[in-house]
Formats: sequence, C-alpha cells, structure tokens
Amino acid sequence: TVYDSVHKNITLDDIFISVKTSKHYQYSRLPIILKTWFQLAKDQTWFFTDTDNPQHQRQTNGHMVNTNCSDSHQRKHLCCKTSVEYDHFLESGKKWFCHFDDDNYVNVPRLVTVLQKYNHQEDWYLGRPSVNKPLHIYNKPTEKLLFAFWFATGGAGFCISRSLALKMLPVASGGRFISVCEGIRLPDDVSMGFIIEHLMKKNLTLVPEFHSHLEQMKLLPMETFRDQISFSYSGPKDKMNVINVPGFDTRYDPTRFLSLHCFLFPHFKFCPR
Ligand code: UDP
Ligand code: MN
Repeated sequence: TVYDSVHKNITLDDIFISVKTSKHYQYSRLPIILKTWFQLAKDQTWFFTDTDNPQHQRQTNGHMVNTNCSDSHQRKHLCCKTSVEYDHFLESGKKWFCHFDDDNYVNVPRLVTVLQKYNHQEDWYLGRPSVNKPLHIYNKPTEKLLFAFWFATGGAGFCISRSLALKMLPVASGGRFISVCEGIRLPDDVSMGFIIEHLMKKNLTLVPEFHSHLEQMKLLPMETFRDQISFSYSGPKDKMNVINVPGFDTRYDPTRFLSLHCFLFPHFKFCPR
C-alpha cells in the first residue's frame, strides 16, 4: 500500500552520518575517510572530535565538531562524544542517526538501500552485536541476574530511527547520556544498548552487513563487498586485521580502504584505470 512504501522514499539526505574521531587519529585514520567514502556523503557526514584543525574544517566544509570532550579512550570521554553526536542528530531533524568509528569504511549507497527497508517513524535500532548472547548484568553481592540486553558494536556502526531517538530524549539528551554511562559504568555502545533494550524495551534488529574489526575481516568474500554497509581494520599496532581486496600495494594502502574504494567505485580520480 501507499502507507507501506512511505519510508522507501528515504534518500541519503535523510541520514545523519556521525563519525567519532580524535586528534590522535587526525593524520592517520581521518585522511583515508576524507579521500574515500566521505566524498560520497559530504553534506550528510559529521565528525566528532576533540581538537580544532582548520585544514580539516575546510576540507569538510565545516563538518568537524569539536566536542570539547577529552582526547582519551576512557569510558567517560567516549560517552561524552557519543552524547554530543546524539544531540547533534536531534538538532539536525534527520530521519536516521547512523554512528560509525573512524576506522570504519561506510558503503554509502548500501547504507541508504538498507535503511529503505525500515520505517523511520517506527522504533528501530539496527546493528550487529559482536557476541552471540546478550550481556548479563548481575547484582554483585548476591550474584543474582538483574537483567540482560543486546547491544550493537559501536565499531561496526549502528543506526537509530528518529522515532526511537525521540523516545530516548528524557534519558539521553542534553548530556544525560554521559550520566547513564557513568551510572552503569559501561562503554558508550553498551550504554546505548542498555538505554534502548532495557529502558525503552525496544529490541536490537540484527543487520549483519555492519562489520567491526572484532570479526576477521579477511573472511568477508569479495563478491559480497557491494552488499556490506561497513568495514573496518585494526593494526598495525595490534595484529593487522584487514579485508582481502586486490588493488594498491599494502605499503601504500595498509588498511585496504583505498583499494576497497576503487573496487566499489573504480571511476574515482585516484583509482588506477
Ligand atoms: N577514540 C577517541 N579518543 C581516544 C581513542 C579513541 O575518540 O582517545 C575513538 C576513535 O577515534 C574511534 C573509537 O573511539 O572512533 C574507537 O577507538 P579505537 O578504534 O582506537 O579502539 P577500539 O575500541 O576499536 O579498540
Ligand atoms: Mn577500532
């Protein structure tokens, strides 16, 4: 019916793509994103960082947000950034909030196509957990199970419909997200799952096309790259975990994201022809 297909009109412009980054990665991770997938979603993507960089501000047409959160990997400071991401989404008026880390490659056209399957006026929490069972929370002294919930791994990316984001307003907006994180002393992505699954009583919908480096990237078949929403990498500090894609030399493209981009979009200027 007409009503069923309303959400199929979703376009890239209806999505708020939010990337968490930090001054630590402004010259390593960020330039790869700016060179590749960001070019396909320049007006829809915003970066949440902890520093001012005029060059990046120019390159992104003012889309770098200095959250004034600390530049550390501590729970509190990562939750601080997520909190600012969420508040900016609310402010944007867009239909979908999609969060990614700065070690994600976002397959922009695929993200749009997948979101077209869901109605943003309904409550949707889309993502991929990195564990195969919900997180169980116990009462310390008695070891009694208090509750359990699923959460989408932040490092794979996840999306929240506007309808759901609005319901979270009383507990999560205006910095209240940080208080939730601190209250349950869990990381930002886990806290998001806690708010949505436990407090809002809305279930995570498994969308397996989101990928974090908690998976073995080389196991993703090349034939499926076009169908995936996100990719990731880790290393070289930890052991390298990257997708297997032909293209540039690994010394020039250690993350494989430049090669992946050329695999998906061979017409790009920097791609070999
Ligand atoms: N990050 C940050 N501040 C830090 C360290 C990391 O904002 O001090 C961000 C980073 O940019 C990334 C996310 O947090 O978007 C996850 O960081 P990372 O990939 O280094 O760690 P992981 O949690 O994947 O092991
Ligand atoms: Mn990571």
